[in-house]
Amino acid sequence: MPEENAELAELIRKIALINAVKHEGKAQPAPVIGKLLAEKPELKPKVKEIASLVSKIVREINSFSLTEQKRIVEEKWPETLVKEKVEEVRRLPPLPNVEKYARVVTRFSPNPDCVLHLGSARAIVLCYEYAHMYHGKFILRFEDTDPKLKRPVLEFYNRIREDLAWLGCKPDEEYIQSDRTPIYYEYAEKLLKNGKAYVCTCPPERFREKISAKKPCECRSLPPEEQLERWKRMLEGQYKEGEAVVRIKTDLNHPNPAVRDWPALRIIDAEKHPHPRVGSKYNVWPLYNFACGLDDHLMGVTHIIRGKEHYTNMVRQKYMYEYLGWQYPEAIHYGRLKIVGASLSKSKIVQGIREGIYKDWDDPRLATFAALRRRGITPEAIRKLIIDV
Ligand SMILES: [Zn+2]
Repeated sequence: MPEENAELAELIRKIALINAVKHEGKAQPAPVIGKLLAEKPELKPKVKEIASLVSKIVREINSFSLTEQKRIVEEKWPETLVKEKVEEVRRLPPLPNVEKYARVVTRFSPNPDCVLHLGSARAIVLCYEYAHMYHGKFILRFEDTDPKLKRPVLEFYNRIREDLAWLGCKPDEEYIQSDRTPIYYEYAEKLLKNGKAYVCTCPPERFREKISAKKPCECRSLPPEEQLERWKRMLEGQYKEGEAVVRIKTDLNHPNPAVRDWPALRIIDAEKHPHPRVGSKYNVWPLYNFACGLDDHLMGVTHIIRGKEHYTNMVRQKYMYEYLGWQYPEAIHYGRLKIVGASLSKSKIVQGIREGIYKDWDDPRLATFAALRRRGITPEAIRKLIIDV
């Protein structure tokens, strides 16, 4: 029965290799035999003969380096890495205050003004893995409310969806902010009515002067009726770009000037800067903190997992949450992932493509997911890298 023996030896080799990879490169005969008998209980009567074969194979496997062992497993039995991944996930530190919520909800919220690159991988993988670890929900939210400076591009919506699917991080729900403009208007009106926001018509430099001196501008104390009147004029297109901004009231003495009375909605010339999805329908667009802050609550996000650079945004948004009587989600801020030699800046990628420096989004010199995919880097490798960091 040489063929049968070869098959058995191969199975033992597989079990031993997986065992070795799990235990820093050193497999142990006993658990290998245990696993083997669990898979092939009919071998139980022959356990003595098998034990010596197992010992021999384990010795052989243990003579390989861990890197070599991992390479073989990845090449021959990639499906076992999926199992390994589940164990990796269990090693993620627990999320704070999970018990406060009925269900953990996380979100990844890219602006479709570029394809995804490795710089987004951590947010995606962590949000996805945590949602699954707690049997929660993972939301994909396109933040496409700046048709002027961060203009979204239609093809990127789909490319982003494809990138997430490739990475094995398919969202449970998807939202597109440019579909939600009426919701943002509704809350803007509510805050203006309650005296928690105001329409500032000061020239930007004048407002800056005032705010850096911790002084209110004249618009701030106007009554709600006047604010609503100005708001109506904004929507009707009676102000030009830059002439009116809705601002959220904050503490004018806040030590960080960037927090003081932050801008929530502004005018964008709809004819000059049509939105690729909704065209020239809207001339007032929410800014990042307003749309993102409202959506996190409205979509039931319980845990925001994002880069440290967003810390000030949380400070800004908390004022709005207080005014609306909402509780701010748990926020986890991590450091930036530094990858040497990979050009991570979105604007550089877009510029390089435009100038023809890079042939396409999957140019191997880029760290876009498309390029990584083309270079044969597996999504498992990326996920593992993120979880292990
Ligand atoms: Zn003003």
